[in-house]
Amino acid sequence: MDSAISFRARKRPAALAQLEAPLAQTVAQKPIPLLALRLPQFERIAWREGKRAAQRLERVTTATFLEASARALRAGDLVGHDPGSDVFAIAMTAPSRESRIPSPIDCRSVLERVALAMSSSVDMRIESGWTLLRSFDPPSTLQHEIELALERGARERERYEFFAAIGHELRTPLTSIRGYLETLIDGGVDEATSQRFLETARREALRMGRLLEGMFEFSLLDLSAEALLGRSCQVSTQIELACEIVRPLAQQRGILVHPNSNNDACAGIEPDTCLQLLVNLLDNAIKYGREGGVVTIGASVDRDDVVIAVDDDGPGIAPAERESIFGLRVRGTQAASRPGTGIGLAIVKMIAERAGGSIRVTESLIGGARFEAVLPARAELMVPAS
Ligand code: ADP
Repeated sequence: MDSAISFRARKRPAALAQLEAPLAQTVAQKPIPLLALRLPQFERIAWREGKRAAQRLERVTTATFLEASARALRAGDLVGHDPGSDVFAIAMTAPSRESRIPSPIDCRSVLERVALAMSSSVDMRIESGWTLLRSFDPPSTLQHEIELALERGARERERYEFFAAIGHELRTPLTSIRGYLETLIDGGVDEATSQRFLETARREALRMGRLLEGMFEFSLLDLSAEALLGRSCQVSTQIELACEIVRPLAQQRGILVHPNSNNDACAGIEPDTCLQLLVNLLDNAIKYGREGGVVTIGASVDRDDVVIAVDDDGPGIAPAERESIFGLRVRGTQAASRPGTGIGLAIVKMIAERAGGSIRVTESLIGGARFEAVLPARAELMVPAS
């Protein structure tokens, strides 16, 4: 490794472009973990408080980055930062004795230590993420790989927060079930009260089941940047599949589901993920729609987008709730009489946004809610290179 740019030999990090040649050389022999850190407030401070304040902030952050890296890295690892930029990079290129590549746990631990040191020195949030560089050839730039690493870090954090939130939610029904069972075991409760306790415990057990289902659904989603890039699906095929999946539920409520997708539009989204989005929207339309009513689902192309619309003739969604219902664990006023967890639309939103699209809700022409998922259109079906 070029010792001139190894971090131990420097008082300041190398420019990112300087790292590209040695990285390309090392990565040809073995994959390299690339760790990225960003100070998201940097630009705002430069803009609001001026160049000097930004320079001061950069000096402190860079010094802490170097110090923390020196403690966490080995000689031969590389560190990079371009003056005036908000990103910092670490390439773990040093040869290791135990195994060829540092493990994900090693990478996360280094990242966490450096990020923690940086954020406590300036009292600001630091974004972080890592990726395994398997090849690195021009015109790919280190800057681009850093963006991918940060994107991956954001997805990891999202997942962590999601599971932490659901884990927290699971505690309430569990405590309640345990409490009721213990009271019943202790005895001395009349028959009517024990019946009521048992029914509550059963209701809570069902709710736990739904929370676990939502958790499982979410865990199956591959929302990594790599999975979303370069995939597409024919929307009408996914609409047909989704209608099949929700048919039993629609029959139970006497609802007719009309697919209306006679075009061959392709959207830039992985097929299973698209199916998940459609099923969640249809499931809600059937659940909240009018008993014996109608649900329609269709797709149209609007310039560079495919717009998928799901309509029902239920009570609809009040304008005041049209933003908030996409939040995790948020349930609307229509929810009281229906079982649910407030996870479905949060998943829909996440899927649409990760694919570069969006989701909105308005009033349907048939009387209820109209959900529109806007996804980037693709000229043709794309299958990822294996
Ligand atoms: P859940 O259905 O489990 O409560 P969701 O995240 O799927 O959670 O939906 C969030 C809220 O949005 C629901 O609680 C409900 O109030 C509202 N909602 C979703 N879809 C519809 C719909 N088609 N019609 C009326 N309200 C809806």
